[in-house]
Amino acid sequence: MLDNLTQRLARVMKTLRGEARLTETNIADALREVRLALLEADVALPAVKAFIAAVKEKAVGEEVIGSLSPGQALIGVVHRELTALMGEAHTGLNLAVQPPAVVLMAGLQGAGKTTTVGKLAKWLKEIQKKKALVVSCDVYRPAAIEQLKTVAAQAGVDFFPSTVGEKPVDIARNAVDWARRHFYDVLFIDTAGRLSIDDAMMKEIAELHAALKPIETLFVVDAMLGQDAINTAKAFDQALPLTGVILTKLDGDARGGAALSVRYITGKPIKFAGVGEKLGGIEAFHPERMASRILG
Ligand code: GDP
Repeated sequence: MLDNLTQRLARVMKTLRGEARLTETNIADALREVRLALLEADVALPAVKAFIAAVKEKAVGEEVIGSLSPGQALIGVVHRELTALMGEAHTGLNLAVQPPAVVLMAGLQGAGKTTTVGKLAKWLKEIQKKKALVVSCDVYRPAAIEQLKTVAAQAGVDFFPSTVGEKPVDIARNAVDWARRHFYDVLFIDTAGRLSIDDAMMKEIAELHAALKPIETLFVVDAMLGQDAINTAKAFDQALPLTGVILTKLDGDARGGAALSVRYITGKPIKFAGVGEKLGGIEAFHPERMASRILG
C-alpha cells in the first residue's frame, strides 16, 4: 500500500535526507507529487487544493523522527489527514425514531440506489433483525418499479406497490402510513434519478423530503463518476439536508477520489461502500483503506 506514492516521494525528496524538520520549502516538490497522485485518483481540483493546504499546515514544523526520511514523514501526515478527513467512526444507519424510520435515497440514475435499498434492507433484516418495507417513487420508469420489486424479493423484504399514474408524494405518504400500521421498523424510499442533474428532479426530491422528514437522507454516488462526483454532490447537497453518503461500485477499478470530493462538498459521513452487484455486496466504509487506495 502507498508504494507508488512512497516511491515518487522518495525520488523528489532524495536530496533532503538528514533534514530534521519538514519545512515549507523542503516539502514543496513532494506536495506537488501528492497533488498529482490525488488528481490521478480523480479527486476534484477544489478538494485537492483544500486538502493540500491542510496537509501543508499540519506538516510544516513536524519533526522527522528516527529512521524516517522526510518523504516518509510527509506520507505519514498525508495518510493521517486523508483518513481523518474521510473518517468518523462508522455510524451505520440512524434508526432512532418512532418507527417506521424513513430512509430517503437520492442520486443520479444508475448510481445504484435501487440495488443499495436491497442491500441495506437485506442487511437490516438478516443482521439487525429489523422489519423493512421498500417503495419506489420513480413514476417515470415502470421498469424501475419492477426492478425494486425484484430486488425486494431477492432480499426477502416486503415491497409496497406503486404505479406510474401516482404522484411521488402520495405514494410515499401511503407507504409511510402502511408501514406505521403494519409495524415496520424501516421504510426505504427509492426515488427517480435522471442521467444528469435537472431542476425538476431536485424539486421533486426536495418535496418528498419536506413531506416525509426522513431520519436518513442518503446520497448514493458511483465511485466511477470520478471528477463529476463533485458537481453531482453539490447539487444534491444544496437541494437536500443529506445525512450520509453511500459510495457504490468500489469493487471496480476506480481509485476512489470521489470519496474525498464528496466528503469535501457535503461534510457528511460516508456510511457504506457498495462492493458488488449482488445484494451481499455492501460493507462499512473504511477511511483508512480508502486513503491508501486514493494515494495509490
Ligand atoms: P439506480 O438507477 O440508482 O437505482 O441504480 P441501480 O441500483 O439500478 O444500479 C445501476 C447498476 O449499477 C446496476 O447494474 C447495478 O447492478 C450496478 N451496481 C449498483 N451497485 C453496485 C456496486 O456496488 N458494484 C457494482 N459492480 N455494481 C453496482
